[in-house]
Amino acid sequence: MNREGLRAALLEAGAAAVGFATAGPVSEDEDLRLRGWLASEHHAGMAWMERHADLRRNLDNVLPGTKTVISLAFPYAPERERPSDLPYLSRYAYGTDYHEAIRSLLTVVLEQTNISSSCRICIDSAPVSERFWAIRAGIGYRGDNGALIVPGIGPEVFLAEILTTIEFEPDSPSNAECLHCGACRRACPTGALQPDSTIDCRRCISYLTIEHSGPWTDPDAIAAMHTVAGRNSLLGCDRCVTACPLRNDTSSPYTWNPPLPAMLALTPSDIPAQQSEFKRRFAHTALLRPGLQNLLRNIANLDLRSK
Ligand code: SF4
Ligand code: SF4
Repeated sequence: MNREGLRAALLEAGAAAVGFATAGPVSEDEDLRLRGWLASEHHAGMAWMERHADLRRNLDNVLPGTKTVISLAFPYAPERERPSDLPYLSRYAYGTDYHEAIRSLLTVVLEQTNISSSCRICIDSAPVSERFWAIRAGIGYRGDNGALIVPGIGPEVFLAEILTTIEFEPDSPSNAECLHCGACRRACPTGALQPDSTIDCRRCISYLTIEHSGPWTDPDAIAAMHTVAGRNSLLGCDRCVTACPLRNDTSSPYTWNPPLPAMLALTPSDIPAQQSEFKRRFAHTALLRPGLQNLLRNIANLDLRSK
């Protein structure tokens, strides 16, 4: 399989950008950025980020003998929005759980191209510095909002990687920069965006409503979840990406994973109190990530007076 044939197959499957990078250690800058973020405790309760920090330096820890990283971006800007009078549900959660959807697409391509035995698919599932590799593979550059910005599409993209023991000629890394316009910082209701484009998760509504487990006890977390934006979040917060002027929904149709009608109209009363019913009704959606108890915590925090 040659590089351009594989790229064409991946684009055909729904990726909006596909780039190839030669595997190797992550740069010192990238390593320092991660170390600084961890030292500042901005990873909040994600202790696994700390445990996996050393593993991220070397792709051989994920797939021994990795020669190439194939970095992919899948746009997720939805064609239809939820009504604004419903509690906020992050736009990434409108369709089928993207981990499942993207893995299925990529699995088919790797099987059709007969290279699956030399590859490992990573979608938030392995210690890989995904933005570093995406920049190295030339598919985008880092925004001040911490997201990868794909030229012509913007920051609303899911990232995935295929690590492979096959050697492919690399693409040129991206050396572009975002506009540094400050719109993302101004849009963030909690001051979570840091000067080095990282996020202080202790005060990020996205982290606090999706990844954080149990009650919010940290004073920064409580303050963030008591903002108007925090009180309106059923799941997630996209303000730092939707504010970005580099966002271009029209160029990124969400055809590979269309919105589910049930998610577009989801209200707190649609969340059942029974675990078994919750799992049945929301199988294959992003709601399973926080789980029922944490969703009920988010619902209890909603300001429903004006809904
Ligand atoms: S997701 Fe929301 S709270 Fe988190 S950094 Fe972006 S704008 Fe701020
Ligand atoms: S909003 Fe402006 S500063 Fe923030 S990522 Fe987009 S272009 Fe960069």
